[in-house]
Amino acid sequence: MNGVARHANALRALAVLAFCLCTSLVHAQTLALTFDDGLDPDRQPQAAIWNQQLLDGLAAARLTAMIFPTLTKTGSVAGRALVADWSRAGHDVGNHTSRHRNLASKKLTLAEFIADVVEADQAFNALPTWRPMLRFPYLKEGDTAEKRDGMRAWLREHGYRPAPVSIDTSDWYFNDLWLALDQPGDTDRRTALQRAYVAHLLTRADYYDQLARRTLNRSPLHVMLLHVNAINAATIAQIADAFRARGWMFVSPAKAFADPLYRATPNTLPAGESVVWALAKEAGEPALRYPAEDAIYEEPPLRAQGLLPEAAR
Ligand SMILES: [Zn+2]
Repeated sequence: MNGVARHANALRALAVLAFCLCTSLVHAQTLALTFDDGLDPDRQPQAAIWNQQLLDGLAAARLTAMIFPTLTKTGSVAGRALVADWSRAGHDVGNHTSRHRNLASKKLTLAEFIADVVEADQAFNALPTWRPMLRFPYLKEGDTAEKRDGMRAWLREHGYRPAPVSIDTSDWYFNDLWLALDQPGDTDRRTALQRAYVAHLLTRADYYDQLARRTLNRSPLHVMLLHVNAINAATIAQIADAFRARGWMFVSPAKAFADPLYRATPNTLPAGESVVWALAKEAGEPALRYPAEDAIYEEPPLRAQGLLPEAAR
């Protein structure tokens, strides 16, 4: 082989290496979207519009998601019909309890919490895409070892799996602001809030991915917690585009939940939060904030950008 041919071969090898590196970087992170709570048209006149807007947005973005409805948020007939729309559109349906009570509350017993789980199961288990998976309200899995381990045993014995998240986000707080920015002069603020919201989701996703890489030594198939609400209905296309532009790839929740991460049983109390957060806490990661996500962290920067509703500005 002469010098020119050797040089060409070396260049080709470099090009292949660069391609592989780029591909692995482009598809470095993967996530699935899950939506909690649901909406009740009897209490929120625009519930059906937002629900359909979100389903249409998911379809247009070619996303398969999962909904975890709770009866306190869906109400009885009309809200449950909106959950059935998710199932008809091919999204899995899980359990978020009937009364959305906090298992970390000292006032709530394990038996009362289990009754809530059974009640929600009975309300939704006939839907064709039903999966016996439990999303704990507020991601709180118990304030004592008895409640935490008692619930883990109940789930095992009843063919259930927990449905933890790896990425938590406070999207509900952005939705509160979105709904309050409803004056004629608020249009620009809403647009700016959407931009801030998408940036916030990317920041939280990157944070939990970095925390996972430190704790698990790998990037897992992530599961993100969002809610069925107005800001997600209005912003789902931008969310999907922004994540894809940053190299994230979407998978279905069924695929993401197959990651062994979601079978972990962190030994933390109070139990819960993101499972990545809980495993990091167990491993002694320093400076973890608690709660891991809350409006208190988001309000100051949004206030500085003038994006709070007038009454709170
Ligand atoms: Zn909830």
